[in-house]
Amino acid sequence: MMNSEIAIKLHQVFFETEQLQIIKGITGEFKKGKITTIIGPSGSGKSTLFRLLNGLQSVAKGSIDIFDQSINDYDPIALRKQVGIVLQEAVMIKGNVKENLALPYSLEGKALSDDEAEYMLELVGLKKEILTRDSGDLSGGQKQKVSIARTLLNKPDILLLDEITSALDRVSLHDIEQLIQHINHQFETTIIWITHNIEQAYAIADDVWVLIDGELAAAGPIKLLEKTTNQAVREFVWGDDHS
Ligand code: ADP
Ligand code: MG
Repeated sequence: MMNSEIAIKLHQVFFETEQLQIIKGITGEFKKGKITTIIGPSGSGKSTLFRLLNGLQSVAKGSIDIFDQSINDYDPIALRKQVGIVLQEAVMIKGNVKENLALPYSLEGKALSDDEAEYMLELVGLKKEILTRDSGDLSGGQKQKVSIARTLLNKPDILLLDEITSALDRVSLHDIEQLIQHINHQFETTIIWITHNIEQAYAIADDVWVLIDGELAAAGPIKLLEKTTNQAVREFVWGDDHS
């Protein structure tokens, strides 16, 4: 079968620590160029799944294919560029915005030109004047935008977003949602977005995965959440008494 519509394919993926089974046999797909949201209770394995998808951890059993190629066949550094990740906490190093933005380059001994820096800032809706600002003086929303720009510097085909708006106020949250949708449209970037905000899932997603206790309890178009008969999913999404 041709898989050209599929960005990531998981088959019977397991992951465990010495004490604990965390991912328990997940099989599923993420569609190319779409926005898929991952929801599920805290501790259900969402962030662990992301670490498997960008090679920070390896599966214990099962397989992950990225663009039809086994994740094991990727060079780890190339994989981390192709599958970019942005975390809830936008970690900034001491220094100005340009130094923060340039980090993926400076780690490789490469310089970031002013033109490129300004282009990246424009892409995430920040003014170029901010380049010389100390990173400690940025708002939460600005930090998250710099963090997104920094990840985009490697031109990832797949972008993993782990609760990136949970520390932000409502205005910045909507701002970031629009920015991600814009990036999805402009570059056809495949977006996988973990959120605990169901309203946000509806606002941004084409598809949804519901992870419960390390298992994929539901997957498909976001609208399926209203129709699902899976009781655990209904309880998580709607609470007990939704009819
Ligand atoms: P989520 O992102 O859905 O909140 P996580 O993937 O962070 O869930 O965690 C899933 C479970 O795995 C939790 O019980 C967590 O404590 C545990 N866990 C995650 N990573 C490790 C690790 N490296 N060592 C031990 N336990 C871990
Ligand atoms: Mg998490």
